[in-house]
Amino acid sequence: MKTSTSLVQSDHACGDPWRATATPIYQTATFDQDSAEEFGRYDYSRSGNPTRDALERQVAMLEGAPRAFAFASGLAAINAVAGLLSPGDEVLACDDLYGGTYRLFSGLLSRRGISVRYADLTDEKAASAAISPRTRLIYAESVSNPLMRICDIRFLASLARSRSARLCIDNTFLSPILMRPLHLGADIVIHSATKYLCGHSDVTAGTVATCDDTIAHNLAFIQNAEGAGLGPQDSYLLLRGMKTLDLRIERQQRTAERIARSLHARDDLDGVLYPGLPSSPHAARHASQASGNGAVICVRTGDSGRSRRVVESLSLFPIRVSFGGVQSSASLPCCMSHASIPPEVRASRHFPEDLIRLSIGIEDPGDLLEDLTAALDAHPRGEGHASTAESSLHAKPAITSASPCS
Ligand SMILES: *Cc1c(COP(=O)(O)O)cnc(C)c1O
Repeated sequence: MKTSTSLVQSDHACGDPWRATATPIYQTATFDQDSAEEFGRYDYSRSGNPTRDALERQVAMLEGAPRAFAFASGLAAINAVAGLLSPGDEVLACDDLYGGTYRLFSGLLSRRGISVRYADLTDEKAASAAISPRTRLIYAESVSNPLMRICDIRFLASLARSRSARLCIDNTFLSPILMRPLHLGADIVIHSATKYLCGHSDVTAGTVATCDDTIAHNLAFIQNAEGAGLGPQDSYLLLRGMKTLDLRIERQQRTAERIARSLHARDDLDGVLYPGLPSSPHAARHASQASGNGAVICVRTGDSGRSRRVVESLSLFPIRVSFGGVQSSASLPCCMSHASIPPEVRASRHFPEDLIRLSIGIEDPGDLLEDLTAALDAHPRGEGHASTAESSLHAKPAITSASPCS
């Protein structure tokens, strides 16, 4: 059965006595037991809940895995994976990562005695040189956020295997529709389900899937012991959103391809980052491991002041963190989603301050293109003074690093 079929056909709570078409929301913390000694399938929702179970089965189906787990956010999912490590272990992580993952790794793992080493994992030599006898986990994103860099997942899987380490891929950017990292040799795949899996910007959630029995056993323990499993109401909303995942990705991606080509053809930009463009340094590698290019496009306008003026004059792309929803949006990663990476670290990694990240939604493609073209044309290169624009960019109060939404 193809994914689009199972996404709509297999959402039902097994054993529901009324044969509900949509999975019921089992909004209950506890389940009554037959006796003090005989327990039923469920006793307490932290340990297991039928709505969350239905969601976890659906995610497992999508990933081609026997087991999946749902958590209260993408970061809670990543934290559960980090819970598989012990003091003294090392994580080898790609040096381009979602800002919140960087914050978790740098701010919390070190306190647990786990060190994190960052390297350019798109480069096989750099990855092989950076792995150490203490490396227990290699961690990378399928398309890195926000620089859209592509690691060779089959290579990283074999590198991990050769050193008895595990490979975890964050596949948030592509969704399981466009890539199944477990089939490429990864041991664990995680998603910020807040993005494409949900698709409607109304839930924060995260998922973890694995084909490894021992890892699954440990994740089940961690989910129950830490208590960050997804609640029933959010599990229901995620299941509901996922029914249209295939449809949404198909539409969003088709529009993104058109917009990326059109932006690429302009001569007033410093680069369009999108895995499918022939100019992308790893286009062939990406095509060998994914079935599509997704619907996030990053654009460099030449200076951060211009980027800010452009995003502020868009009307169909509200400025917001996150991506993957049905409604298009725009963000400036350096002062929003990646503000938790210290400026000096961003500078050492050549993180472009003029980067605009566009999330393409399901609106009419012509409307979106017209809006983008008008905003870029209205703010030509060299219009403002880069240095004053730079400082005002960082001064904007709503989107500083202290913002609760970053
Ligand atoms: C958003 C995001 C996360 C974190 O997920 P939350 O649901 O916000 O906790 C992790 N990885 C990537 C690539 C993301 O974009």
